[in-house]
Amino acid sequence: MSQDSSPLSEVPEIIAIDGPAGAGKTTTAREIARRLDFMHLDTGAMYRALALKVLRDGCPLDDAERIGQIAQDARVALLLGESGQRVILDGEDVTDLIRSPEVTQAVTPVCEVGQVRERMVELQRLAGSSGGVVVEGRDIGTVVFPDARIKIFLIADLSERARRRMLELQAAGNTATLDEVMTQIAERDRRDQQRDLAPLRQAADAILIDTTSLSFDQQVEEIIRLYTAR
Ligand code: C5P
Repeated sequence: MSQDSSPLSEVPEIIAIDGPAGAGKTTTAREIARRLDFMHLDTGAMYRALALKVLRDGCPLDDAERIGQIAQDARVALLLGESGQRVILDGEDVTDLIRSPEVTQAVTPVCEVGQVRERMVELQRLAGSSGGVVVEGRDIGTVVFPDARIKIFLIADLSERARRRMLELQAAGNTATLDEVMTQIAERDRRDQQRDLAPLRQAADAILIDTTSLSFDQQVEEIIRLYTAR
C-alpha cells in the first residue's frame, strides 16, 4: 500500500530515520522514542550482531553463501532493559561487543549479502508491526517501512560526524585519531551508497535534516514537531 493511497489512520505509526554513519541517528532515535513513549529499533545493531556471529564462526568475509546460512540460523533480538536497549544474539547479551572496531569492519561486507538483508528485514518488520516505533538505519524509508508515517534523512558534514564518532570511541577507551575515523566512516558511507541491495539513499518522500549546526535538542524537537504535524 503506498502512502498516497492509504488513509492516514492506516499508515503505521513508524518514524523512519536513515542517514550516513555518525549523523546522530541512534542518539536521536532513542531520545525521540523516550519522549513519545515509542519503541526504538536500531537496525544497525542487528547487522552488527550478525557480523559478530560471522566473526566468531571464523567464516571468511567473502563467503556470501556461508554468511547467508549463518544469518538463517541467527536469533537476533533487541530488548529494552533498565540500562537502555540490549542486543541479544542467540540468547547472549552482546550490546557492548558489537561496538568493537573488528565488528565495525566486518559489518559492511556482511550486510551486503542478500540472505542477510532478507532475514534482517523480516525481523525488523515483525518488530515494528504493531507501530509506535522509531526505526533507524540505512534503508528504512526505502525498503523496510516504505509506508512509514514520517521519514527523516539525517545528515551532517563528514568532519562533524567524525568528530562526534571520535568522542564516542574515546569515551569507550579507544584511541582512534580524527583522520582515522574520518577515513573509516567515509569508506563505510561509500560502500553503503554503492551496494546493489538496499543502498543508502534518501527516499523521495523523506525530509532532509542537516544536523551539522543543530544542537541535539533542536534536532530531536524538529523531528517530533514534524511527526506531530502529520
Ligand atoms: O548504524 P550503524 O553504523 O551501527 O550500522 C552498521 C552498519 O550496518 C552500517 O555501516 C551499514 O553498512 C549497515 N546497515 C545497513 N542497513 C541498515 C542499518 C545498518 O546496511 N538498515
